[in-house]
Amino acid sequence: MSERLIPNCDPFALAKELAGMNLINGRLVPAASGKTFEVRSPATRQLVAEAAYGEAADVAEAVAAAKAAQRGWAKTPARERGKLIQECGQLLNQHKEELAQLVALETGKAIRTESRVEAGVLADAFLYYGGLGSELKGDSVPFSPDMMTITQPMPIGVIGAIIPWNVPMMLMAYKIAPALVAGNAVVVKSAEEAPFAVLRVCQIMNQVLPHGLFNMLSGYGPECGAPLVAHQDVGKITFTGSVDTGKIIYKTAAERLIPVTLELGGKSPMIVMNDADLDRAVAGAVSGVRFTRQGQSCTAASRIYVQDQLYDSFIAKMKDSVDAMVMGDPLDEATDIGTIVSQQQYDRVQSYIDIGKSEGGTAIECSQLPSQADFKDGLYVRPVIFTGLPEDSRLITEEIFGPVTVVQKFSDYEAAIAAANDSIYGLAATIWTTNLKTAMDATQRLEAGFVQVNQNLVVLPNLSYGGIKQSGMGKEASLEAMLNHYTHKKTIIINMT
Ligand code: ADP
Ligand code: MG
Repeated sequence: MSERLIPNCDPFALAKELAGMNLINGRLVPAASGKTFEVRSPATRQLVAEAAYGEAADVAEAVAAAKAAQRGWAKTPARERGKLIQECGQLLNQHKEELAQLVALETGKAIRTESRVEAGVLADAFLYYGGLGSELKGDSVPFSPDMMTITQPMPIGVIGAIIPWNVPMMLMAYKIAPALVAGNAVVVKSAEEAPFAVLRVCQIMNQVLPHGLFNMLSGYGPECGAPLVAHQDVGKITFTGSVDTGKIIYKTAAERLIPVTLELGGKSPMIVMNDADLDRAVAGAVSGVRFTRQGQSCTAASRIYVQDQLYDSFIAKMKDSVDAMVMGDPLDEATDIGTIVSQQQYDRVQSYIDIGKSEGGTAIECSQLPSQADFKDGLYVRPVIFTGLPEDSRLITEEIFGPVTVVQKFSDYEAAIAAANDSIYGLAATIWTTNLKTAMDATQRLEAGFVQVNQNLVVLPNLSYGGIKQSGMGKEASLEAMLNHYTHKKTIIINMT
């Protein structure tokens, strides 16, 4: 039996209210073509609702609304803008439960371990950035007594934000909250797999903010995302998604000479030394692989290098720990692990499991598929710990974005660092050790934008987050992110002679 925390909250009804709509200029409107596409629950395969099929005409309308609203918004004092963003945060907090249930319904992410956590982070991002309005300040350089110089952070104008489906509300918040506080207007393109929770967020924000300042379009990448990147009035693109799409966006942005922030994939290594606290490292691995989200995280610890003495016990304990996790209805409080988001991702993950087996690896499958009849067609993949794979395995070099991790044995620390750095990606990395010297050394040498010792956390407000190499460019979640990515610095000189 499903146990719901707030029985009156009906995420299906919420999605139906938003069915077939974009949010443009403060109004819910259908796509200009009238077309829609289906969004199905990955847990039951039931139709959640139809979403608006946004295309170039809708992009044009949304960008025009944003452009018009931005002029007045830029004149609003920065702290006033911030206060309104904080109001949004407070309101979103009040709607936390319904947002959590809606995102759980459309993405299959478990309510207790994932979706409710995301809804909390969403509100917190607005509260955090809302307090930063007064940080939009510049410098004065003393050249001479009769020459006054000022640098001033200016809004860019209209920001295009293209978001993925894995943590759609959180990733959207870390883009639009700083963009808006900095005086910009935004057009967001949601991921085709998860259009409703983010649209609901915008509907809630719409109660507080001027109409047109932010606009939400649902649709497919080539039909709706591409025209947003190409639109002449979009001054910057911020994108989170796959490496391949990131490259396409970067090329269009290069043609237009507009800046981009790209948060792309990862293949984040975790190194466990013989002197590590084994239980802590195992707990860190289980949360780090993000099994609760079926591994659908760009920072997932998808390569785990364990030193020889701990190797066997690490794997045994990790299996025990994942076996104890419950797979089931994403909306059930008892569920630890929900589903994969879509059939396409499901097939992709299964193909990687097949590749690993064909490469000679041992697939240790953990936990159990849900037994309830309603979920028998759900997109559940049992968590897999792979061992015994060759060093050049595709499971070690390529991002899987599923509940699959590879555990490799090493004896020499130098070899582990070399293996960890031998990747096209550079998003996150962790080292587990009780030796301070090893820890310090690894923090300096691991090639990643985000390195942690003896823990495996995710994004924290005001801690810059972003990768190097093919994991992308630019930082998010911090003051630095707001100033560097959502403003340009104007230099002003006043000759007083
Ligand atoms: P995934 O493979 O996880 O779906 P994508 O990079 O395809 O990752 O999707 C992330 C976001 O990028 C989604 O909102 C998607 O619609 C959008 N997108 C996909 N292709 C393009 C494109 N050519 N131009 C702009 N946006 C795109
Ligand atoms: Mg996609």
